[in-house]
Amino acid sequence: LKRAKSTGRVEVHHPGEAACARYKLDLETELRRAIDQGDLRLAYQPIVDLAANRLTGFEALARWTHATRGVIDPGEFIPVAEEAGLIVPLGRWALDSALATLAKWDALAGATVPLTMNVNVSAIQLARDDVPGVIAAALATHGIDGSRLTIELTESAIVQDPERTTKALQALKALNVKVAMDDFGTGYSSLSYLRRLPIDSLKIDRSFVSGMLQDRDKVAIVRAVLSLADALGKTTTAEGVETIELSQTLAALGCSHGQGYFYAAPLAADAAREYWQARI
Ligand code: C2E
Ligand code: MG
Ligand code: MG
Ligand code: MG
Repeated sequence: LKRAKSTGRVEVHHPGEAACARYKLDLETELRRAIDQGDLRLAYQPIVDLAANRLTGFEALARWTHATRGVIDPGEFIPVAEEAGLIVPLGRWALDSALATLAKWDALAGATVPLTMNVNVSAIQLARDDVPGVIAAALATHGIDGSRLTIELTESAIVQDPERTTKALQALKALNVKVAMDDFGTGYSSLSYLRRLPIDSLKIDRSFVSGMLQDRDKVAIVRAVLSLADALGKTTTAEGVETIELSQTLAALGCSHGQGYFYAAPLAADAAREYWQARI
């Protein structure tokens, strides 16, 4: 706290606050340019059927390698994109790019590759853009059947604007597009939406999965989510499957799918292609 001499007003100074604001502003400008110039990439992480130990598809995850700052995590630039309204063009790009990759793989195989693609859609993107319209156009452009696409939403989308979310999800249903609830169990929304909304699967957050073999409470939560999903007829994907023990335990508990470093980290497009070509 510092009292300004001339005015006598009390001003609050957080050390580093100005530098931090400046950094965010720079990041925003540079992210806008990166999106415009096509500098973002998608990484693809395998999703596996746990019981059959079989690859079923990939989750597309945005990657930004900055010319001077190096790799910037989505955990850092997605919130910046959301604040700056850049999540709409970024989200459109991610949807288009992921479906373009799937179409490229189909062309390469000379047939429809039996793989699905998961794309993350931000709550803010869902509230501000015509997501079903954008998806319908992208599916048509790339000749991809809607049933091969899963949209990953967090609970915040439902809290943000339940009515709009409901309409959007119904429109996605009409396109045969599937909906997964991402980071399930970490949000702040009522469970009643699971009954009301057309949600096909639950992704069990990594915070419950990692370390669950050493933690009775985590196992209890994972079991409860699996039982809830089963009763409601939804499939489940465990995030953060890092070891064979985890994959086996989750399969034994009835979790249908897994994703994590035990199978593979998110891979660049070419490495992802090699991954599925070796397994399909
Ligand atoms: P998410 O959708 O929950 O994605 C899973 C995150 O967990 C990814 O982090 C992935 O790299 C990481 N992960 C996967 N397996 C393991 C594992 O076994 N161990 C550990 N420790 N981590 C694992 P990433 O790529 O840094 O993405 C972070 C978040 O950023 C995503 O979380 C998602 O919410 C958001 N995100 C990424 N790309 C997009 C995008 O295109 N659009 C939107 N709206 N959000 C995105
Ligand atoms: Mg996700
Ligand atoms: Mg997730
Ligand atoms: Mg997560």
